[in-house]
Amino acid sequence: MTSPFPPAHPQRILEEVFGYARFRGHQAEIVEHVGGGGDALVLMPTGGGKSLCYQVPAIARHRRGLGLCVVVSPLIALMHDQVGALEEAGVHAAFLNSTLSLEETQQVEREMMSGRLVLVYAAPERVSTPRFQAQLDSLHERGLLALFAIDEAHCVSQWGHDFREDYLALDVLHRRWPDVPRVALTATADATTRQDIVERLQLESARVFVSSFDRPNIRYTLVEKDNARAQLLRFLQDEHEGDAGIVYCQSRRKVEETADWLVREGVPALPYHAGLDADVRRRHQDRFLREEGLTMVATVAFGMGIDKPDVRFVAHLDLPKNIEAYYQETGRAGRDGLPAHAWMAYGLADVVNQRRMIDESPAGEEFKRVQRGKLDALLALAEAHDCRRVRLLAYFGEASEPCGNCDNCLAPPATWDATEAARKALSCIYRFHQHGGQRFGAGHLVDVLRGKRTDKVAQYGHEALSTFGIGAEVSEAQWRSVLRQLIALGHLRSEGEYGTLALTPSAREVLRGEVTLLLRQPSEAPRRGRGTRSR
Ligand code: ADP
Ligand code: ZN
Repeated sequence: MTSPFPPAHPQRILEEVFGYARFRGHQAEIVEHVGGGGDALVLMPTGGGKSLCYQVPAIARHRRGLGLCVVVSPLIALMHDQVGALEEAGVHAAFLNSTLSLEETQQVEREMMSGRLVLVYAAPERVSTPRFQAQLDSLHERGLLALFAIDEAHCVSQWGHDFREDYLALDVLHRRWPDVPRVALTATADATTRQDIVERLQLESARVFVSSFDRPNIRYTLVEKDNARAQLLRFLQDEHEGDAGIVYCQSRRKVEETADWLVREGVPALPYHAGLDADVRRRHQDRFLREEGLTMVATVAFGMGIDKPDVRFVAHLDLPKNIEAYYQETGRAGRDGLPAHAWMAYGLADVVNQRRMIDESPAGEEFKRVQRGKLDALLALAEAHDCRRVRLLAYFGEASEPCGNCDNCLAPPATWDATEAARKALSCIYRFHQHGGQRFGAGHLVDVLRGKRTDKVAQYGHEALSTFGIGAEVSEAQWRSVLRQLIALGHLRSEGEYGTLALTPSAREVLRGEVTLLLRQPSEAPRRGRGTRSR
């Protein structure tokens, strides 16, 4: 069977090399544009098919005698997989990274310089070396430098969670070889990151291709932490018995404790974090990929470059850093397109904790300001009483309609007007200050508001305060939600190790009744089992 298309035609390459019938989404446009020598910035969700966006143009340009495509990638495992698959498909490809011996490196370099190689994958630090640059100069002089592809381009953004110093030096590609087309690709695409990529990689004249970030098969559920372990177990037992999934925790210790506990509860689970031995990590990862129905309990160290199509759920026991991180992490569920679940339990302690991590980080004020803004956006998503997907996509600049496949769409939560409660909470903190100049955490504050006569209340004489018991009609869960909001909105600051609460200058606006707070009514979760109480 002969193809009606000439050898360098994208459609022919797609069919003959990759065995696919048609391009998906924006792939055809991107391949056309890049193959024709244009620069491009490609924003496509994980699993969207970014690889073909540079592999097909690379093959097309090589077939036209234009030489080599250099793919910059930070992920060694991914390089290996891709090169293996390309060679399998008859495309001459190789990688250059620290796993190669000197002889192997020299062998790849010989192939590269001969002009026979179609794609070479290189780690970003390689691109900065004088040796590699001299090699590219030589190819360029001979007209054999066809294309640059910069994968995981968000790594260039200092605001993001995957920042890599080496990416900053990639502007050399444009400065040194300005006539070689470049395609930058990423699955992270909020406005700040996008702007950063364009500026730092000098992609001002690149065409931007934005795919929808919707993952319609993922159901989003965000619950308020009550007894996190019991909630998780209920989620796993009721909805995901026998399924493979990932449970993210913030600390290594919590990863290990949670994995142990799940095993004791009869859920097959393995821990994964950067503090484990390299071969333990490899073994756990292999088992997760090969065996069925395992739960990986992990820190964020797990996941980048993991391609397991049938991950049925991603659960968060701690709040991620921001919406991009949440989207990336939950995006590992359901890559096969079948129904999958993104579940998260979050609470006041998480908010306090994340705030503190930002406050105490050695970074500059500007950086902290951006990080706080990003955290607030995530809190707004967590506290939302309307469609989660609409919120999530809006964050990536995409308009959409209520989805029918998130907790809020499926069971619209009741809301209550918390404006008055917020004023009571703030004035109670003000009274503490007047009364003894001291600051207290959320637990004590809620006790005073609800009029609970605890030892601490007695010790500080707080039953004498005019605010003692003024909020008895508001449940504890509701109070926590009010406090989270006040912190998120910046009217309240939580400080230090104990998360003591202090008013900020803008608290005045709430006290004067200038701020309206409409909050979701916390569902009083039924208790089941005897899980350990969370923080
Ligand atoms: P990303 O890098 O965006 O996460 P990949 O490039 O790994 O995504 O592609 C995800 C999966 O989709 C891969 O298995 C790939 O082979 C497949 N794929 C990509 N484009 C197409 C297409 N046009 N037709 C069929 N399958 C495709
Ligand atoms: Zn929805």
